[in-house]
Amino acid sequence: MTEERLLQGSCHCGAVRLTLPSAPDKATQCNCSLCRRLGGVWAYYEFGTVLVDGHPENTAEYMWGDKTLRHVRCKTCGCATHWEPLVTEPGAKHGVNLNNFDPRLQQSIQVRRFDGADTWKFID
Ligand SMILES: [Zn+2]
Repeated sequence: MTEERLLQGSCHCGAVRLTLPSAPDKATQCNCSLCRRLGGVWAYYEFGTVLVDGHPENTAEYMWGDKTLRHVRCKTCGCATHWEPLVTEPGAKHGVNLNNFDPRLQQSIQVRRFDGADTWKFID
């Protein structure tokens, strides 16, 4: 499998497809009330650099808390694919759930545990 192939992921049914601009150097697993339920492993990119196919026509969204982000999932298979900022100002970040990609992508990088539930610090 080529590097390029590793940068392409999709939800389980394939209705939402993601292409990363480059491999992430690290990712974050967060224990906040939402992330622990979604089970996401998040890599961050500048908004607009990740190609998301099938969104918004095949997706549903969820917002909570101070509503700065939109959590996006496939409306058919329910897989959480990414989150995106509501205000797309320069430098705004975009989170991609690496669980939608070949497992070798995650195995090749550092996945850090983040305490979003309490201290907002890394706990590894
Ligand atoms: Zn799907």
